[in-house]
Amino acid sequence: MKITLKRKNNVKFRCTKCGRTFTRPSIRCPYCSSLVRAEIPKQKEFKLTKHPGIWKFSNYLPKIPSENIVSLDEGFTPLIKAKNFASLIKLENVFIKDETRNPTGSFRDRVATLIVSHAKHIGAKKLVCATDGNLGASVSAYSAKAGLKCVAVVPSNADYGKILQMEAFGAEIYEYGKIIDEAVVKAKELVLSEGIYEATAEENTLSIEGLKTIAYELAMQLNRIDWLVIPAGSGLTLLSTLIGFNELVNIGILKRKPKILVVQSNVCSPIVDSLKQDNVVNEKEASIVKKHIPGLDVCKTPLLKHILQYLDYANTYGVRITYTSALNYVSIVAKSEGLFIEPAGAAAFAGLAVFARKTENISKSENIVVLAPATGLKVPLTYSKEPSRRKYGSRLAGLSTKALILNVLREHGEMHGYKIWKTLGLSVSVQAIYQHLEELERAGLVESKKVGKKKLYKLTKKGYEVVLALK
Ligand SMILES: [Zn+2]
Repeated sequence: MKITLKRKNNVKFRCTKCGRTFTRPSIRCPYCSSLVRAEIPKQKEFKLTKHPGIWKFSNYLPKIPSENIVSLDEGFTPLIKAKNFASLIKLENVFIKDETRNPTGSFRDRVATLIVSHAKHIGAKKLVCATDGNLGASVSAYSAKAGLKCVAVVPSNADYGKILQMEAFGAEIYEYGKIIDEAVVKAKELVLSEGIYEATAEENTLSIEGLKTIAYELAMQLNRIDWLVIPAGSGLTLLSTLIGFNELVNIGILKRKPKILVVQSNVCSPIVDSLKQDNVVNEKEASIVKKHIPGLDVCKTPLLKHILQYLDYANTYGVRITYTSALNYVSIVAKSEGLFIEPAGAAAFAGLAVFARKTENISKSENIVVLAPATGLKVPLTYSKEPSRRKYGSRLAGLSTKALILNVLREHGEMHGYKIWKTLGLSVSVQAIYQHLEELERAGLVESKKVGKKKLYKLTKKGYEVVLALK
């Protein structure tokens, strides 16, 4: 099946090296593998338009007719002065770019608005994205708004709260592979075999145009940005903000780009590994077992060579942070600033604390912006898995089929999948119930035993706790 182009497709994409142009938004040039960017007519003045959300920057975004713009009023998130947190780490001017305020609770809404608008504009009916959570939640929400179908390919480590969001927005969810890299390959197969629009952020160059608006907003919110502290998985957000700052310098809005502190996990840190090692600090590891920080578990990033092209080596620093520290800083930021963020974002705060303590690179009067990409409400099980953090529990009350299944098991005890389906009486297939049961079993909320040919399901202790929390 091929996508039929209903309308005149007036968005062009150009390779930044060989100059070839394309109509599809692949992030890499198929001829020379360099970065491809959307073509945007040159503007003289930095002027906002009256469009919704980040489309206020439409003079600096690909030209999509306003009737095809799909926006949930994303972006223009607040920059909050984190006075309490700053004093904890003996600094004065720390600011939080609070991306949790986006419509689905993460910075990925900036990506989804560009991608879904473009898909709608070219007449695509269905989008597919590989996602470990935030992107899937965003693309499925914007697809729902646009009346398009969304397929999300998720690895088995995807966060439960984010899957709940995808379900709520009506996405088709396929689980494939253990980590995001495997899901990306599967999504690509669907793109190639079925001609579905490719919405995986790291494969679609429109992501860069969406995410660079973070840099635009920062330049409007703060007179002088000395540092940007940014957690990096694939490095897409880092690349995009670097591009955004470059553009601002080129059009004369900024005098210079901020210094960058890249925060990665101590399990794998491909971007930090490639920095000047004099500029890199490691958190003390003690005897802590190495564990991936969710969202920062990209060990080989295909974007590395593009990131290195835009990095200013002399002014880029790196920190490697442990999983335990990322989780601790969820609590520290929540208690000092009243902001509940997910561990990937908390890693940035941990990174800043370690860097400020171990080096003399930051002076007290400098303005430091920390990017907080997504809300902690998306990853409730991350906290309930940690014995000392059970108090966070799950607050995602009664919205999903999974929650209903857990409740039925609490009320009726052991049951067969078919009986659960009958008891629920929902308009979902019995196969869907079995799929949910499998996922609940993998999440450790339900356990099963074989009796004859049938499987009996019951709640685990953890499942019982979750269902009580949901109540
Ligand atoms: Zn090329």
